[in-house]
Amino acid sequence: MQFRTRAIHVGQEPDPNTGAVVPPIHVASTFVQPGPGQWGRYDYSRSGNPTRAALEATLASLEGGCRALAFSTGMAAVHAVTMLLRSGDHILAGTDIYGGTYRLLHKIVNRAGIEVSLVDTTQPQRVAEAFRPNTRLLWIESPGNPLLSITDIAACAQVAHRHGAWLAVDNTLATPVLTRPLELGADIVMHSATKYLGGHSDLLGGVLVVGKAPLGEELYFVQNATGAVLGPWESFLCSRAIKTLELRVREQCHTAMQVAQFLAAHPKVERVYYPGLPEHPGHALARRQMQGGFGAMVSFEVSGGFDAAKRVVGATRLFRLAVSLGAVESLIEQPAAMSHASYDRKDRLAHGIRDELIRLSIGLEAPEDLIADLDQALQQV
Ligand code: PLP
Repeated sequence: MQFRTRAIHVGQEPDPNTGAVVPPIHVASTFVQPGPGQWGRYDYSRSGNPTRAALEATLASLEGGCRALAFSTGMAAVHAVTMLLRSGDHILAGTDIYGGTYRLLHKIVNRAGIEVSLVDTTQPQRVAEAFRPNTRLLWIESPGNPLLSITDIAACAQVAHRHGAWLAVDNTLATPVLTRPLELGADIVMHSATKYLGGHSDLLGGVLVVGKAPLGEELYFVQNATGAVLGPWESFLCSRAIKTLELRVREQCHTAMQVAQFLAAHPKVERVYYPGLPEHPGHALARRQMQGGFGAMVSFEVSGGFDAAKRVVGATRLFRLAVSLGAVESLIEQPAAMSHASYDRKDRLAHGIRDELIRLSIGLEAPEDLIADLDQALQQV
C-alpha cells in the first residue's frame, strides 16, 4: 500500500464491537485480567494502551520500522534514547540541532557521566574524525534546525556502524513523507509529534521508531520504567492528523519554495537558508535524500542585526510570533531570542546562528497572502 493509504488505514481498523469507522479512544488507566498471574493484551496504560498502540502501528508503518513508541513530548523521546547509555559513554551530536536537544545533552545527560560533543554533520569526514572509542550514539537532524543544513544519513549510518555506535535521526523537519532514515541505515528515528505529525498546534507528543526488534525492546523497557507515555487523547488527535500528513506536507513544501524564492530576491534579505534553492550547499544531497520536496521551514537573515530582525518578527500579521513549527498556521520567530536562546551565545554564534536570523514555519495559508505579509513586515528593516 502507498504511504497515503497506510496513513489512513494501518493501525486504524474499524472497531470490531460497534463497526465504528474511527477506533474508540480508550481512556482506561487499567484493564481487567483473566486471572491472578494471567495477563491480557493490556494491563495498565503506562505499559500499553489501545489508542496509543493504534498510533504506534501507523507510525511504524510510515517510517518503515518494526516498532514505534509514542511519548508525552519530543524531548521525552530524545531523553529515552540517551537512557540507553551509561556513565563513560560518549554522544556525538550535530551542531545544527534543536536547542532543547542541545540543552538536554549538555545540561542533563552530562550529569550522568556521559560525554557529549558536537560536530558539523554536513561533512562526513569530520563526523568520522570526531568519533571516540567510547562513542555509542550519533545524533543528527536533517534538515537541521534552524539553518536547514542537510546531512547525509546513509554516510552517517556507515560511520556510526563502523564504530559500533547507533545512529539516531531527529526526522521532525523532514517527516516520513520526505525522508525515511531507517531505509537509509539509521537505527532510531525520532519525532517531535508536536510538529508535522500533530500538525495543528493542538498536541504535544514524541515518537521513536526502530528497525530492529531488540532495540525496540530496550527502548520500550526504558519508556515503561520511566513513564513518559503519550496519553490517549493526544494519541487519537495525532492519529487523526496523520491521515492528512502527506497532503499537508507536500502543499507546505510547495508554498515554502515560493516564499524562499521571494525572500532570495528581496533587497532587505541578506541570505536565505532553504535546501530547495540551488545555491544551498546541501541542495544536491537534499534532492537525493528527500523525496518530492525540501521541507516547509525557511530561515533568512536581514540586514541590520538583532534589532532589525526583532522588528520584522514583531510586524507580521498572518505569521504568528511563536516557537514550534509544522502546523497549518504559519509561524515566525527569532532563534537567537527564542528557540535557540538556551545555547550559550558563543556556541550559538560559532554554529552560525546569528542574531539577525529569522525562522519561518510555513503553514497551509495561500502562498500569496504569506508573501504579502512578509513583504510588509520587511519594510521595518
Ligand atoms: N526536535 C525538534 C526538531 C524540535 O523542533 C523540537 C521542538 O521544537 C523537539 C525535538 C522537541 O519536541 P517537543 O517540544 O515535542 O518536546
